[in-house]
Amino acid sequence: MYLSSPKNFLYQYRYKVFLVPLGGLRGLLIQTPMNSFLYRIAQAYYSEFKESISNLTFVFPNRRAGLFFQRYISQIAAKPIFSPEILTINDCFSLASQWQTADRLSNLFRLYRIYIEQSGSDETFDSFVFWGEMLLSDFDDVDKYLVDARQLFTNITELKQIDQLFNVFSDKQVEAIRQFWSNFVPVTEGKTSEDFIATWKILLPVYQQFRDELIAENTATEGMICRAVAERLRAKEEIPEFSGKQFIFIGFNALNPCERTLFAELQKRGQADFYWDYDATELRDSENQASRFYAENIHVFPSKYTIEPMVESLQDKEIELIAVPSAVGQTKQVYSILNQLYPTENTDELSTINYQLSTNNWIDTAVVLPDESLLVPLLHSLPAQIGKVNVTMGFPLKSTPVSGLIEHIFELQRRIRLSGDRVSFYHQTVSNILNHQYIALLCSNEANRLTHQIAENNWIYIDAEELNKNTLLAAIFVAQTDTQTLLPYLLHILRSLQNGWQQASDNEHNYQLECDFLYQYYVTINRMADIMKAKPMNVNMSIDTLVRLIRQLTASITIPFVGEPLDGLQIMGVLETRGLDFENLIITSFNEGIFPTKSSSNSFIPYNLRRGFELPTTEHQDAITAYNFYRLIHRAKRIFFLYDSRTEGMQTGEVSRFMHQLHYHYGVQVQEKTVSFDIGFGSPQAIQIEKTPAVMEKLLRFTSSEEFSPSLSASSINTYIDCPLQFYLTQVEAVEQTDEVLETVEASMFGTLFHAVMENLYKPFKGQIMNESDFDLLISNSLQIDKEITYAFATKYFKKKNNMLVALEGNNLLIASVLRKYILQVLKIDKKRAPFRYISSEERCNIQFPIQNGQLKINLKGFIDRIDEKEGRLRILDYKTGTGKLDFKNLDEVFEHNKENRPKFVLQTFLYGLFYKTKAVNRTITPGIFYIRDVFKDDFDTELTNKELKEKVTDFAAYEDDFGLHLSDCLEEIFNHEIPFGQTKNVKICQYCPYTGVCNR
Ligand code: SF4
Repeated sequence: MYLSSPKNFLYQYRYKVFLVPLGGLRGLLIQTPMNSFLYRIAQAYYSEFKESISNLTFVFPNRRAGLFFQRYISQIAAKPIFSPEILTINDCFSLASQWQTADRLSNLFRLYRIYIEQSGSDETFDSFVFWGEMLLSDFDDVDKYLVDARQLFTNITELKQIDQLFNVFSDKQVEAIRQFWSNFVPVTEGKTSEDFIATWKILLPVYQQFRDELIAENTATEGMICRAVAERLRAKEEIPEFSGKQFIFIGFNALNPCERTLFAELQKRGQADFYWDYDATELRDSENQASRFYAENIHVFPSKYTIEPMVESLQDKEIELIAVPSAVGQTKQVYSILNQLYPTENTDELSTINYQLSTNNWIDTAVVLPDESLLVPLLHSLPAQIGKVNVTMGFPLKSTPVSGLIEHIFELQRRIRLSGDRVSFYHQTVSNILNHQYIALLCSNEANRLTHQIAENNWIYIDAEELNKNTLLAAIFVAQTDTQTLLPYLLHILRSLQNGWQQASDNEHNYQLECDFLYQYYVTINRMADIMKAKPMNVNMSIDTLVRLIRQLTASITIPFVGEPLDGLQIMGVLETRGLDFENLIITSFNEGIFPTKSSSNSFIPYNLRRGFELPTTEHQDAITAYNFYRLIHRAKRIFFLYDSRTEGMQTGEVSRFMHQLHYHYGVQVQEKTVSFDIGFGSPQAIQIEKTPAVMEKLLRFTSSEEFSPSLSASSINTYIDCPLQFYLTQVEAVEQTDEVLETVEASMFGTLFHAVMENLYKPFKGQIMNESDFDLLISNSLQIDKEITYAFATKYFKKKNNMLVALEGNNLLIASVLRKYILQVLKIDKKRAPFRYISSEERCNIQFPIQNGQLKINLKGFIDRIDEKEGRLRILDYKTGTGKLDFKNLDEVFEHNKENRPKFVLQTFLYGLFYKTKAVNRTITPGIFYIRDVFKDDFDTELTNKELKEKVTDFAAYEDDFGLHLSDCLEEIFNHEIPFGQTKNVKICQYCPYTGVCNR
């Protein structure tokens, strides 16, 4: 597979090249794309100008369209000719400017310094970075849209006007804008509307000084270059670089005022011709946003030659809409579609597509990725028959594996421990690095050895010397406490990685992609290091600030993959499709919010002001996306739309609005398909662990009566029933799971805190009757409750000893108040039940359960959350943090393998019944569940219900024998050496399993 490196892009695109007819030297087989827009213009121009076409200048919105056009001319000419000049619109402006485009990072530093000078603020650089980027892009818009900056930044005369402008923003946006303004001039009490206006006015001197300084250095932003050229043209100035040239502008749609000026002035001088791709009726339909710029463009800038429209009607296309419940899963579906489009003899998939293409014609097919982060999984999921792949898109640097590794390194440094000369690293951060795909590949032996060593010795902090036995690891595990050394340290790691990849490369693997990622990261950090060395200002930066700055910068960088565009399967971003036509389109991430992207105002210039000054707004952006979409699809024959149908978390599973428009507005017939979760992933080999003598030996530790021998708990038995392999990994091999250090209180920690507070509140009443009055006292003693909550946080969450307390703040304070609310409600519920005897909480129980006719006795253990007694009935309760059900069908269901929604809680409470029966002489045991989340429900209850018998479980004795038999069968199975530990057959069970990586599920 060929993938061009970003380093290879530097060929001189603008200069004329000698075109050789296709089928000639390179022997590429490209079908004549007769209906292609670019082909037909090339044809019209060639038939008019023949070889003298090389005297013309063709201008396109993007590079790729220009290269296709160049290729079509060579195809039509059928003999060697000189190529015409091919430019992008940005090239066109740059051509006429003597300024160099200024580096973005330097611009940011410059803007910060100017801002500090103008505002007198003491804002730190890292808080400036976020809105500094926005300001840069606003300034760019001001220039590209030829806005009078003086008018814009002094336009607001009353505070009322500001508030009116704010009306169209969400609360969050208003907050952001207010924060931005208060950063300029902190708003204090008594400040008036004039202060706000003064704040706004600061933008003008900042903008002017920023421009003046750049110009003094012969540099400029893109917007400044466009503006200067447009203004010279308006002033009727002769621009030597344009003199004597004939420009043909092809495939444009939304024009900014600089572009409009360029077009108009060249038109007036008789130097311009224009071709617009508005062939499809949808692009001229006034009810479709896609047509927003159509009428004006064709009226103001008409074409010289008539190009007959050629369109594939929407109704004649084969369109499939495929729902895939996964983002990455879509790439597996692309694999399947490509295999069906281009079957080989070895293709084992049954083609449902009644059209099979020759594998020579990959160029007819484009895979469009509106979400760039799918690029890497896609490249790993392409069918083997694809010889060449062409990637033309920006890939976000932050989505690359190298970025992930650097994040782990930042975390490693954040949690470093220094004691005198000794440097040690926290085990979880070390493991994250050792498990990273790059490290696992480049130094797998050393990484494995260290991982085992850490687990074996239970090291919490690991000395740096233990970790430096390998060159790459030695580069990583070095303490960084100084901003001066952080960037060289990162550069050193990146170079070591690069060496590693080069050494790992062989005939089969060249790791080009990895090297490209590293290269881009290296370039970014290196550039930063240069700027820091140059010390453009007195920026006092902490290491955290520097890390945040690196994050900010890498988050905004995309890697510009630009492949040789006429060879192989085309993989593209949406913008790169402009001007191009394909017979087959596979469009992924066809979700609302991704294609089109969620409209968001990334600007500090309020919406109404933007409209007033004709700056682009979100509607403008929506219209451009709609145009790009309808233009792209209108000449395709087959289109596959794939979307992520999941509805959990941030996912809405909503298909793009364009699909609804196609369906309801244009009545397009779409074949809808749903792909099940694991389709296309292949069936990973089943894993089964035989109970060899060595495994049995480990297993039999659960039968030892020696002190500290391990025991099985209700939850480990439940794990076995769900998945024997998971049981084997956790209980028999005790494979390390993710560390339990929590940054915030999660559900399980909430439960732990709740348990601890309840236990401590009731401790003084152990063995005693609790009356209503006791509860009244407890409820009214909020100080006591708060003290217990703080204590629980200190001991359970912050793991403090010696009664040391920690002041709660932020999110933890919020959790504490929620916890208080629940505790109070439980006290109220218990008060209603009073009087009753409180027996104990967190009571540890152990038994030895006999199996195999008493030959083996299995150690079982458990902690009973709470036991109380009323009227001769012992309630054995288990607190559960969430909400849940209390009913079950029968005990068969409780012990059934692979069952979804199995009533596990029954096994747990019944096991506790078994544990406690010897202590409950002459008393009835009632097992129950206390769902904490349900305590506010009117019908709150703790008793279980047997649905089959339609009765409440009030007396465990009635179930004891049957439960004992089921438990015995289950334990017999676990300890039966003939039954291996296999994987669950129900993949839904794998969803929350920490070993999905092991099982490839
Ligand atoms: S991933 Fe699935 S099969 Fe593998 S151990 Fe976990 S639950 Fe069992």
